[in-house]
Amino acid sequence: MFDLHGKVALVTGGNGGIGLGMAQGIARAGATVVLAGRNAEKSREAAHRLRTLGLKAEALEADVTDEGEVERMVAQVGDKHGALHILVNNAGTTVRKLPQELTLHEWRHVMDTNLTSAFLCSKAAHPWLRRQGGKVINIGSMMSLLGAPYAAAYGASKGGIVQFTRSIATAWAVDNIQVNAVLPGWIDTELTQGARDQVAGLNERVLARTPAGRWGVPEDLAGIAAFLASPASDFITGTAIPVDGGFSIA
Ligand code: NDP
Repeated sequence: MFDLHGKVALVTGGNGGIGLGMAQGIARAGATVVLAGRNAEKSREAAHRLRTLGLKAEALEADVTDEGEVERMVAQVGDKHGALHILVNNAGTTVRKLPQELTLHEWRHVMDTNLTSAFLCSKAAHPWLRRQGGKVINIGSMMSLLGAPYAAAYGASKGGIVQFTRSIATAWAVDNIQVNAVLPGWIDTELTQGARDQVAGLNERVLARTPAGRWGVPEDLAGIAAFLASPASDFITGTAIPVDGGFSIA
């Protein structure tokens, strides 16, 4: 039910943090994972690390905000492997500023990286996914559900991810493609290391508010990724599943 041998997965932002945690979960279930990011060296190292664990992993350089690069990335994976079964739209960024201080350029950068990229990658992957049925996993956030003063663009993009997920889930159900969102709580990565450095008291607030009493680690996302990529989730589509140690219900 959870076996992914013979499957090919493309994970955007798969060279570190949550993307790498998810890629590892999918690879452990047997799939070949392709890690895509702008930093080619970081992607190569991450793929190498997975291969040293006996997993099947490759690296690909791509900027997911660029439609031409996205089309090339998806075509490269599909042509090389003859198939693409699983797409994880994970690449993301943030600009921490009050809404009145955000520039249009910063707003667009966050929206392009977090939301428009999911549209571009999903659109490019659709012809491959529909051949045999497939899985799309979109990465939202607690900011898909909640608000925060420094998250106007980030929250808008992550709220958008949930609605985008629901829309394409309905459109592509006929193609046997299941589309779900994962909403991570506070996970210790480079992204949140920046937040911890910039926002006084954040660490203490996260620990106090999270019922599990700890930050998540990228490996905490491995299980949900493998599940949503596998036949075990074939009748689950359009959902947004928190993986947050209870943050969203406390
Ligand atoms: P990281 O900063 O560790 O990872 C971000 C990844 O996105 C990197 O691999 C980066 O690779 C890639 N990326 C960024 N911009 C682009 C681009 N234009 N094209 C291709 N790849 C890009 O952060 P996290 O692991 O924390 O975040 C991963 C996802 O999880 C994001 O969508 C984030 O919003 C979400 N998330 C994170 C939470 C957390 O607590 N950490 C909580 C909720 C959601 P490269 O630099 O090589 O391009």
